[in-house]
Formats: sequence, structure tokens, C-alpha cells
Amino acid sequence: MIVVMMGLPGSGKSKMASRLENRGFKRITLGNLIRDEIEKSNEMKEKLSSVIDKGELIDDEIAIRLIEENFNKEEDTIIDGFPKNEKQAMWLKNFLKKEGKKIDLVLHFDFTEEEMYERLKGRQLCKKCQEVYHEVNFPSEDGVHCDKCKEKLIHRIDDEPDKLKTKLDIYRSQTKPVIEKYKELGLAETVDANQDAINMYYEMMESHKGFLMRIH
Ligand SMILES: [Zn+2]
Repeated sequence: MIVVMMGLPGSGKSKMASRLENRGFKRITLGNLIRDEIEKSNEMKEKLSSVIDKGELIDDEIAIRLIEENFNKEEDTIIDGFPKNEKQAMWLKNFLKKEGKKIDLVLHFDFTEEEMYERLKGRQLCKKCQEVYHEVNFPSEDGVHCDKCKEKLIHRIDDEPDKLKTKLDIYRSQTKPVIEKYKELGLAETVDANQDAINMYYEMMESHKGFLMRIH
């Protein structure tokens, strides 16, 4: 079972991916893998940090390698934040085919750009365990530290407004056409990401007539 999650930054898709993880899915979140990769070596740090900090996409080759390395065909998997363009989508299709798999469902978390700016202003990340919080919408217990590992929460550099503009341009020109393609193929369903996390969760679980509910 392969579920792909796509949407603008701040749509809450990673939060939803984390909930599906609790239901027995393996979760592959490209953004987290990239951040791990940056921590691993100075070479990767140099290569990736400037790209990420500008809000641009990393090389397809690196993104693809990270997904491939973390994929295990024995597990039900959520792929979060990948593919981001047509080249990656084509690779994913062929890769899954080789593994005897296919995309079963694409969830498109859709919300307004105004809402995106509003939400990302308050987004916080735990650098240690990658848990995501929000100052207003889902704060940690004390608003400053991670509930799980007590690490101090940070704001991401790529959440700053000028970086978001770059991300948005890339999303519109490269990622949106991929989502449209998945819709044409009948694979993708839209989840209204303007609503709160609980309602979004129920809408997600009921997508494709309760497809996810039936799995575990
Ligand atoms: Zn943490």
C-alpha cells in the first residue's frame, strides 16, 4: 500500500503523515530526510543548506536517492513531500513498478496561499525528533520545548516570507501539474487543509470512500 501526500508547506500533511505512522504505516518524509542528510556530513551540508535555505528544490538525483534508500517494499508506506516535479513522478512510477507496487492513493492537501503565510509564521520544528508544532494551532505543552524529547523548538529558515515566495513559484510551476495529472488518472483526492487538524484527519481517513480506514 503506497500513499503519496502532496501540498503546500504548512498544509498539515506531515502532521497527518505522522498520524498514519501511528496506524502502522512507514513514513518517508523527504524534508526530514534532507535535514538528516545535512546533519550527516559537511559535504552534504554545503551542498544542500544553501538550496534549502533559499526555498529551492534539491537536485532530483539526491531526492530520488533518499526515497530509494528509505523505501522498503514489505511495508505500507506514506511518501510525504515527494514527488515535487514530473521527473521525480516518472521515476517513482517506474521504481514502484519494478518493486511490484503502485501508488494506491494520492492525498492533495489544499489550502489558500494566505493561510499558508499565516500558518508558517508560527510553525516550529523539533530539530531532534522532527516533530512539528505551531505556536497557535498546535502548541507544545510549554510552547517552547518538544513534548516528546524536550528539545528546544526552532523556526525554519525556509519558512521566512521571501523563501516561501520561491517555494510557492516552484509549487505552482512544477508540483501542481503533477497533482493535476494524478487527478486525471483518478488517483488523487483533495483534502481541505483550511480546516483544523481533527477535521482534516477525518476527511483524510474517509477519502476514497474510507480506503485508509479499511487498511488497519
Ligand atoms: Zn522532539
